[in-house]
Amino acid sequence: MSDAPAPSARTTLRRGADRAVYERTRVLEILDAGMIAHVGVQTPDGPLVLPMAYGRDDEKLYLHGAAANHLLGTGKGHEICATVTHIDGLVIARTPFHNSMNYRSVVIRGLATKIEDPDEKLRSLKLITDHVVANWDEGREVSEIDNRKTLVLEMALEEASAKVRSGDPVDEEDDMAGPWWAGVIPVETRFGEAYAAADFTGSNEMPPQYGAVAGKTPDER
Ligand SMILES: Cc1cc2nc3c(=O)[nH]c(=O)nc-3n(C[C@H](O)[C@H](O)[C@H](O)COP(=O)(O)OP(=O)(O)OC[C@H]3O[C@@H](n4cnc5c(N)ncnc54)[C@H](O)[C@@H]3O)c2cc1C
Repeated sequence: MSDAPAPSARTTLRRGADRAVYERTRVLEILDAGMIAHVGVQTPDGPLVLPMAYGRDDEKLYLHGAAANHLLGTGKGHEICATVTHIDGLVIARTPFHNSMNYRSVVIRGLATKIEDPDEKLRSLKLITDHVVANWDEGREVSEIDNRKTLVLEMALEEASAKVRSGDPVDEEDDMAGPWWAGVIPVETRFGEAYAAADFTGSNEMPPQYGAVAGKTPDER
């Protein structure tokens, strides 16, 4: 059961309610371990969901794209939905009917607002960049033109719910004594060794944080 109440009626889990997590710090942990959000908007020609990088602070989620980005441009000023998912394992039950997955996912619903203030925009772009791998301070400084060419939307983290499944398969009592294999195949994402671009001729050494993630999972960053 969750350790906090759902933030709203529409974010209250109905199916699998015992897997609900509403507590803010646990929701944020799942967001921090993720790298992409699937962002859903209603467009004039139908619903559209696209993968995007994101960043966050304690109150808001930030999404960015080109100034002409269709999804963000359409979502601006409207309710949108962002989902972050981790698959931690394939759960094999005694009958395929009870197969499942171990997972952690967060769904955030709310109004998306365009960030107009240039300083606020830069701050949110740094949050998005550093969320993936901290390198905002490593490369060429972002110019005013770069900033103008970029659209950033923010949405409150207020209406966020998480759903978490872990552990063994849950089979029916009558199947427990049967011969069928049951268990879990763990699934994980790991960072590899960083390598220089084929056309890299710069003089800077590789920043240590890129090497530091090698072999780690996003949770261990
Ligand atoms: C891991 C990952 C991270 C990304 N991060 C960002 C990000 O942070 N910011 C950002 O702006 N973009 C990001 N993208 C690209 C993003 O998914 C969109 O392609 C891009 O934002 C253009 O959006 P648009 O609405 O302008 O697309 P349009 O070009 O207008 O889309 C037209 C049509 O193309 C198809 N399409 C668009 N994107 C995709 C896609 N990714 N895969 C398959 N079909 C597609 C769809 O059918 C869509 O209706 C990321 C993609 C991936 C895979």
